[in-house]
Amino acid sequence: MEKRRVYDYLIVGAGLFGCVFAHELHQAGFKCLVIDKRGHLGGNTYCRDEGGIKVHEFGAHVFHTSSERIWAYVNSFVPFNRYTNCPLARYKNKVFSLPFNMNTFNQLWGVTTPEKARLKIREQVREYSTKFPKNLEEYALSVVGSDIYHRFIKGYTEKQWGREARELPAFLIKRIPLRFTYDNNYFDDRYQGIPIGGYNKLTDALLKGVDTKVNVDYLKDKVALDLLACKVVYTGPLDAFFGYEIGRLEYRSLAFEHENLDCYDYQGNAVVNFTEFEIPYTRIIEHKHFEFGKQPYTVVSREYPRAFTRGSEPFYPINDARNNQLADAYRVMMNRIPNLIFGGRLAEYKYYDMDQVIASALTKVKQEIISQNGFESEQNNGIGAI
Ligand code: UDP
Repeated sequence: MEKRRVYDYLIVGAGLFGCVFAHELHQAGFKCLVIDKRGHLGGNTYCRDEGGIKVHEFGAHVFHTSSERIWAYVNSFVPFNRYTNCPLARYKNKVFSLPFNMNTFNQLWGVTTPEKARLKIREQVREYSTKFPKNLEEYALSVVGSDIYHRFIKGYTEKQWGREARELPAFLIKRIPLRFTYDNNYFDDRYQGIPIGGYNKLTDALLKGVDTKVNVDYLKDKVALDLLACKVVYTGPLDAFFGYEIGRLEYRSLAFEHENLDCYDYQGNAVVNFTEFEIPYTRIIEHKHFEFGKQPYTVVSREYPRAFTRGSEPFYPINDARNNQLADAYRVMMNRIPNLIFGGRLAEYKYYDMDQVIASALTKVKQEIISQNGFESEQNNGIGAI
């Protein structure tokens, strides 16, 4: 590596991918600068402190993973609490359990046993059972049937994605478990929780000792910033990197309306999904419940899905066939650029969960350190230790 530059690596974006990458490189003895366009570190995991309540400014982040290695990794920076995500669905002022499980089936149909619930679902899907569902609607109807689809999926999905469910890929709802037990835990993963004291504890610990600068727009000042380091790790949007040269990728954006309330408990749960289309927001998050807060006040956030326009924040990649093809083409272009590494939800254009982002960063940084050192660094007690 050329040693004349101030930094070995310039890491663009202080989200989880950038933080993990920077941490591991720093541990291995490389000099890194992490920059971010926004005014804070931690990307979308950033939490604002409101009198002890950690407000998930950019939407609810519940860490979950089945990987012992990733769980041990994040817990080595900050202990995690025992928060278990059990969101509720509100449909026409009635409250139902999520994910779809025996509690939901009982609330919907009065059935009390798994056998009766299976019979009911079988009856519900009979007219829709199609061997090869072509879209999200066909898939949902063929798996859970009409009652569940129309109450809990269609309205939520169409406002979330701004498209008809018939025009969306089925994989989007394969994230929601379907169970025939009385289990309201949203995730099937072995481990889940929230960092005690909030996500900033995790990202600050990852960035300890690393130089950082916020309010720096890499793409606006690319030529000068590139001169600072021998290599660049880019975690921003894939298409923006190339000035949209071969087309624009689509994203879904979000807007949040945060409200401080002078009451102890607003909704009795961290996450309530509003599944009917007519209500413009998809969820209300009550942040104190992520950390079992006992403050006499509370903070809630309404999450509004928004079209992605120039200047708005990209939150979700829209991984349909057209966008995936375009992203593949951009990835080929990216791979041809020397001294550039890219990763994370935006730069890979993948609907990654936090644990997947961390796993991907660890894999890529390990390869990078090996390629620089010719062997695994002894200083690198981060990845090597796990
Ligand atoms: N979904 C739904 N009803 C719900 C919750 C989710 O139809 O009450 C669908 C929706 O299409 C959503 C997808 O399932 O985009 C994945 O939901 P999840 O909550 O896992 O997504 P997140 O926005 O938290 O990444």
